[in-house]
Amino acid sequence: MAEPSAFLSDRARGVRQSAVRDVFDLAMTPGVVSLAGGNPWLDDLPLEDLGRVAEGLVARQGHLSLQYGAGQGTPELRDAACTVMAADGIEGADPDLVVVTPGSQAGIDTAARLLGNPGDAVVVEDPTFVGALNTFNTWQLDAVTTPTDEEGLIPAFLRRTLQRLRAEGRRVAFLYTIPSYANPSGALMPAERRDEVARICREEGVLIVEDNPYGQLGFDDAPVPPIAAAHRDQVLYLGTVSKIFAPGVRIGWALVPPVLLREFYLCAESAYICPPVPSQMLATAFLTRFDWQGHVARCAAEYARRCDALVEELEARLDPRVLVTRPAGGFFVWARMPDGVDTAPLMHAAAAEGVVFVPGAAFTPDGGPDPHFRLAFSFVAPEVLREGVRRLAPVLNAAVSGRPG
Ligand code: PMP
Repeated sequence: MAEPSAFLSDRARGVRQSAVRDVFDLAMTPGVVSLAGGNPWLDDLPLEDLGRVAEGLVARQGHLSLQYGAGQGTPELRDAACTVMAADGIEGADPDLVVVTPGSQAGIDTAARLLGNPGDAVVVEDPTFVGALNTFNTWQLDAVTTPTDEEGLIPAFLRRTLQRLRAEGRRVAFLYTIPSYANPSGALMPAERRDEVARICREEGVLIVEDNPYGQLGFDDAPVPPIAAAHRDQVLYLGTVSKIFAPGVRIGWALVPPVLLREFYLCAESAYICPPVPSQMLATAFLTRFDWQGHVARCAAEYARRCDALVEELEARLDPRVLVTRPAGGFFVWARMPDGVDTAPLMHAAAAEGVVFVPGAAFTPDGGPDPHFRLAFSFVAPEVLREGVRRLAPVLNAAVSGRPG
């Protein structure tokens, strides 16, 4: 019998264990305050009413809901996705260009398979979503970072990155961006910057994959229209119900430029035949028969309250050399220790004190030493967030004062 690893493809051999996996294992320990996972708050959902819908889906519509469905998704859900996108600022999306996916993670995966050859560059924000990095890694794409600030991608650097890759003769599969309340940075890209990013990518002939799970979760402001709103043919746009309804249903969608539509859903079908039908029907019911926008508004208000509690406690307890940014929406606070402090080893010290967070290294392709860390407030009640900070602060402050100077 050969070594088990001999059975693995080169692709699978290259898959790395992310720092986040360690964090999630630690977060399962009873009594630990987890500031790690970006889980949505579900308490506002009308569970009994949804339960009656779910029962009906099987009891009365089982012949449909338990059967194979269309690869592109049900027409009803594709229509409902267009209503959600309209609320995001994408007016008049064509439901024929929508492909339902089992979550936007599957949309990222399909995009990577559809657009990338092994060794191609995928340009990503520094920092970016760890799940996307894992997918790119799986498809042997080379994630190349480009710098960001509090307003997301910095256009001048993006131009330079793309020009450099072109000069090196590299194929760029696409730019992957999260312009609204990014994971992990919380950054919100203003409208003018979105247009500039689109212009640069058009000039460089680079397609944009825009991932927008958090766009409607601004604390005070209306959504900034996605890049796809004004640049439809240049953008493969990914939406999801995970943060506005429920991640467990595993329902997202892609709004695909017409020229890529057929190949997109053929690639998707080859992976999973069709998205899960009962989940599509439940998500459709939520988006058509319930006040989903009221739910989103109440969620955003709750997230704002949680974010305030977390930031207030951090500001009260952390050494002022730890820089904490208050996001204007989304699920995450992104913070930075002084230069030279790597947050990865601190994760274990924090876990020993009963609190977990995600170190910045998780959100970069090289995973090297990184002074940042991410705290998720979405799933944790304000008083528990405060307790989490009481446990975390001594660990971080000791690491700061342990630094020379
Ligand atoms: N993209 C981003 C930026 C995310 O933060 C997440 C979830 N954490 C996803 C995609 C995956 O979402 P889904 O549940 O729709 O697969």
